[in-house]
Amino acid sequence: MDREFELAVVGGGIAGYTAALTAKSLKLDAVWLAPEAFGEKTRAAEYVRNFPSFSGDGVAFCEALERQRAHENIAFVPVRVDGVYAQREEFLLTAGERSFSAQTAILATGGERRGSVKGEREFFGRGVSYCAVCDGALYRGKTIAAVVASPAFAEEAEYLASFAERVHCFCLYPAAAFRAENIVVHDGAPDAVEGGARVEQICKNGQALRVSAVFFLKNSAPPQAICGGLKTDGAHIITDRKCATNLPGLFAAGDVTGTPYQFAKAAGEGLVAAYSARDFLLQKKK
Ligand SMILES: Cc1cc2nc3c(=O)[nH]c(=O)nc-3n(C[C@H](O)[C@H](O)[C@H](O)COP(=O)(O)OP(=O)(O)OC[C@H]3O[C@@H](n4cnc5c(N)ncnc54)[C@H](O)[C@@H]3O)c2cc1C
Repeated sequence: MDREFELAVVGGGIAGYTAALTAKSLKLDAVWLAPEAFGEKTRAAEYVRNFPSFSGDGVAFCEALERQRAHENIAFVPVRVDGVYAQREEFLLTAGERSFSAQTAILATGGERRGSVKGEREFFGRGVSYCAVCDGALYRGKTIAAVVASPAFAEEAEYLASFAERVHCFCLYPAAAFRAENIVVHDGAPDAVEGGARVEQICKNGQALRVSAVFFLKNSAPPQAICGGLKTDGAHIITDRKCATNLPGLFAAGDVTGTPYQFAKAAGEGLVAAYSARDFLLQKKK
């Protein structure tokens, strides 16, 4: 277990970054947990024309943010959080083998770019999983499937293959290749996940493959998959104007709280969430 922090910020986009930046200016003892700073969605913008003091494409936007991050010395721990657990007086955050505890936390994990596959939501917890490290070992010797969003998730697919008899990998990027011989590569997303009480098959182009589980390996898992007990409206975390969720001490910011999906809104909420976390800590000390 890493040491206890006052605040843990989860998510490397502009919402998480602004929360981490604000936490530093508020002198909070914070840890920023993110697989990378700024990330795929920030880089993807063709031309940003609606963010104060910046015009240019997403790559240039990331470079400008990176210069500021380096100047302000905002460090992040390069992990993907797979669980946030509300305990009595703190939050436990797990990321593979590592864990962190914090008195407050901000979820800024973004939203889905591509939308979900038919049946994905319905079978969550009944054979659909978002975390290879958490659930892979449950399928030792079974045939399973994985929907792999980008090469960044190839290692997680290989990890699944170390338990499963066979892994059908539906890869959303071209020329996917894996080391494990028990991985079968399929190009593109599946059409549907189907079953009864649990996942039974994955379908594409009218063909069905029998599988015991389907892992969705992608940047933004639905928030309910990371944190049980969170009140959500579909894929969005329900928050009030202070970015507070229904769980005391847990705040949320950015695309994960809903529309408009815009950098300025995400940054603004990141700032509000950091102030709210500070207020929560002050209240606790009283
Ligand atoms: C093609 C495209 C063009 C766009 N153009 C514009 C534009 O011109 N102007 C504009 O205002 N907006 C634009 N947007 C929208 C903008 O990108 C989003 O509103 C913004 O990125 C939201 O920031 P965010 O921090 O909430 O989420 P994201 O940018 O999605 O960041 C979330 C981050 O959290 C990380 N993460 C997810 N799960 C976990 C986890 N479990 N543990 C740790 N980290 C995690 C992800 O890796 C990601 O880096 C565009 C979006 C797209 C897709």
